[in-house]
Amino acid sequence: MFGSVLIANRGEIALRIQRTCRRLGLRTIVVHSEPDREAPYVLQADLALCIGPAAAAQSYLCQKAILFAAEVSGAEAIHPGYGFLSENAGFAERVEAAGLTFIGPSAASMRVMGDKIAAKRSMRAAGVPCVPGPDAALTDDLDVVRAAAGEIGYPVILKAACGGGGRGMRMVESESALADALLVTREEARLAFGNSAIYVEKFLGRPRHVEIQVIADTYGDAVWLGSRDCSLQRRHQKVIEEAPAPQIEDALVREIGERCAEACRQIGYRSVGTFEFLVEDNAFYFIEMNTRLQVEHPVTEMTTGIDLVEAQIRVAQGERLPFRQDGIACHGHAFECRINAEDPDSFAPSPGMIDTWQMPGGPGVRIDSHASSGYRVSSYYDSLLGKLIVHGTTRDEALARLRVALDEARIGGIATNLPLHRRLVTDPDFIRGGVSIHHLETRLRRSGQP
Ligand code: ADP
Repeated sequence: MFGSVLIANRGEIALRIQRTCRRLGLRTIVVHSEPDREAPYVLQADLALCIGPAAAAQSYLCQKAILFAAEVSGAEAIHPGYGFLSENAGFAERVEAAGLTFIGPSAASMRVMGDKIAAKRSMRAAGVPCVPGPDAALTDDLDVVRAAAGEIGYPVILKAACGGGGRGMRMVESESALADALLVTREEARLAFGNSAIYVEKFLGRPRHVEIQVIADTYGDAVWLGSRDCSLQRRHQKVIEEAPAPQIEDALVREIGERCAEACRQIGYRSVGTFEFLVEDNAFYFIEMNTRLQVEHPVTEMTTGIDLVEAQIRVAQGERLPFRQDGIACHGHAFECRINAEDPDSFAPSPGMIDTWQMPGGPGVRIDSHASSGYRVSSYYDSLLGKLIVHGTTRDEALARLRVALDEARIGGIATNLPLHRRLVTDPDFIRGGVSIHHLETRLRRSGQP
């Protein structure tokens, strides 16, 4: 059992993790970069250690500095949050080798899921439905690749095995474009991810992005905690998420959820995780698994009443899952708006000093943010300022609450995407529910936005 947690992250998620640690009576140690020294979670920490300058490579990504901070502070566990080192298997290994607990899955699980081909292969073996296509890297033999693509049927998509962040993918409409696309995607994969392995699968034209949250303990027990819909995206970045995914039959979601939990048992997965699917014509197709806490985890917390960070810490402490599948119920509906420091029309980042910060409140409203009036938004990090999360007994009630909350929210001094959110919550297609992953970009293009 550990009594202290080093939080190896920044921003809203550092504060989110710290809140649960403090409630559980755990000592919190925060590592931070120079410009983050005034952040609220730094000031509230039992111990705060500056580990480097603003550049993430010299601070939040510097494994040596973080491990040294853990050693000198006497930290017993490390929570990596999301992004930064959260899916770095080598880091998880080093944390454990130093005698500390990594609050996350095993390095071996992270390695399998970090390779999308290996992930797909193990998921298919565990009975999780995947996008049609071979579970193997493409060879250099063009005839073999042509045959594989022909069997799937065009359009197909070429994807880097180690890709991430929506990069290293290319849609191919017909056989005549295959050879060139292969060369370019392979080269891109090699340059961006240091690994030129690529694979091919069916390109789905108008899918939704639906994901299943899971949590597993070290005793081979695993449960799933409902679905989320994250289809509202721009450049593969999620903008609004909701739980549960609307307009999908409960029985179908249950079947997929059970398969995800079973897959966790089969591969000996531990901690929280998310199975991401594309859903088209009522069919689920696995695309990847994220082996960490997700930005959008609060919508699941609002509908299940479960504190996911607490569950993650308990499992890391070696405790058994504190709930069973038949004890998990999803109540009502929740939305999350990601509030970014960016121009609502051009999407250009908008760093600077916040001079007005008025956040909404009332029943069913939750704000997860480290920002406040007087807070300076750095240009060094991603633009996420915080999240506005609302819950209601029905989807309509949650949407109505979201509209009021967005109307109350005021942020001044820098530009934010609040105006975009206000427009989106009046969009008839979004109100109806179940839009595809292309909906937001199509809508933006129609109104002349990039
Ligand atoms: P990353 O790890 O880079 O986020 P994913 O495999 O999760 O990559 O895919 C990111 C996005 O790319 C998906 O949300 C979807 O928009 C698109 N995409 C991926 N695979 C397919 C596919 N087979 N058909 C259509 N779009 C896809």
